[in-house]
Amino acid sequence: MNIKNRYDVVVIGAGPAGSVAARFAAENGASVLMLERDREPGIPVRCAEGVSHNGIAPFIDIDQRWIASKIDVAKLHSPNGETAIMRNNGTGYVLERRIFDTALCELAAEKGALLVTKADALDLVWENDKIIGVKYKYLGEIRTVKCDIVIGADGVESRVGRWAGIDTSLRLEDIDTCVQYTLAGIDVEKDTCEFYFGKEVSPGGYVWIFPKSDHTANVGIGIAGHLAHEKGPKEFLDEFMQKRFPNATVTYTVYGGVPTAAALKELVKDNVMIVGDAAHQVNPITGGGIVQAMIAARSAGKVAAEAVKQKRFDAKFLKKYTKEWDKTLGDTQKVIFKMKEKFMKLTDERFNGIVDFCQKVPADKFSLKALFTEAVKGDPKLMMDVAKAFVVSKIKLK
Ligand SMILES: Cc1cc2nc3c(=O)[nH]c(=O)nc-3n(C[C@H](O)[C@H](O)[C@H](O)COP(=O)(O)OP(=O)(O)OC[C@H]3O[C@@H](n4cnc5c(N)ncnc54)[C@H](O)[C@@H]3O)c2cc1C
Repeated sequence: MNIKNRYDVVVIGAGPAGSVAARFAAENGASVLMLERDREPGIPVRCAEGVSHNGIAPFIDIDQRWIASKIDVAKLHSPNGETAIMRNNGTGYVLERRIFDTALCELAAEKGALLVTKADALDLVWENDKIIGVKYKYLGEIRTVKCDIVIGADGVESRVGRWAGIDTSLRLEDIDTCVQYTLAGIDVEKDTCEFYFGKEVSPGGYVWIFPKSDHTANVGIGIAGHLAHEKGPKEFLDEFMQKRFPNATVTYTVYGGVPTAAALKELVKDNVMIVGDAAHQVNPITGGGIVQAMIAARSAGKVAAEAVKQKRFDAKFLKKYTKEWDKTLGDTQKVIFKMKEKFMKLTDERFNGIVDFCQKVPADKFSLKALFTEAVKGDPKLMMDVAKAFVVSKIKLK
């Protein structure tokens, strides 16, 4: 492999954000290097692997190689043991992310981006207070690569933003701490995702069951950081397992954090852009970030290529990406963030009421808008915001 000493754009991280940013920058004429510290994109998997069809279809042709299951049904379980069923055929998938992430990298490579794995970015390279490249370690050797733009797509534990002087700190209540087991030897419905709510099960969060087949599933929990002191997510999940899957085999365990804030205020600096989890571009209620990362990264990649053409690497120019993010998703994410603050305070009685409401809606007539509106009932301003968010774009709240 021929790694040059200089590229227009260096992307750090080869998750969905990195590979989509690399692809759109390369497709629009920039020379692109993508550095990934792990030996393979998508490994280790730290994800429940749930996505909506509408979310991923604009980015990649659907391929059975990376689809574990097709989801038509969502089951909501209330604290008092009631269940509501939402049916919407063909709306979602549980992915095989180790294959999906590689497929996204392959698309970037087809457009001319070079992916280097086992390449750990260590720092930015500065000259006269200006970022001029990236220092990285590759196969034990410290190297530098020069570039005009660095795209930080280095995930939830991102350091690129901080290196560039961006405030990436999160309040404890805006980090969900998650534990997930991939289970085998269980019986689940392959087309049905399940969600359990309530303070006994998962305070300030939920337990999910995302099936990968009729006998395997990702079963996990996310709890808001400030509520995970006395009893951690693992203890909650183990209690849940005892009740629902006492005899399951755990084939894989994941620990991870999910930023559930309203995205970074500052997404760019001179010569730098931040995307995906690194920029906290995650749905604050569901914790889903794959589609969000790809949408943001497409904008970032295109703007990076335009910057190269126009030789404009200053933050003022790169803010085109910030503006596009606000327009496509960022403004909606601010509304969802406000809703999340409300959700975290919902009592078990309110969750019972919401599931009760859902039970009365025919399974195939169900909409997320109806669900969210019911959840914020009693707060007219927020109800208005929710209605507006759905008018602006249907995809955004998925
Ligand atoms: C338990 C759990 C369950 C989740 N479930 C879902 C779900 O069902 N649906 C959903 O949409 N989202 C889910 N998410 C969130 C989702 O995984 C992320 O939002 C998504 O992966 C974000 O993509 P990304 O490219 O920004 O970051 P990542 O996928 O984390 O990719 C970042 C990449 O950067 C690399 N990297 C980091 N530092 C460096 C460095 N210094 N040098 C080189 N490379 C580096 C990493 O190795 C990694 O490959 C879940 C998260 C967790 C923790």
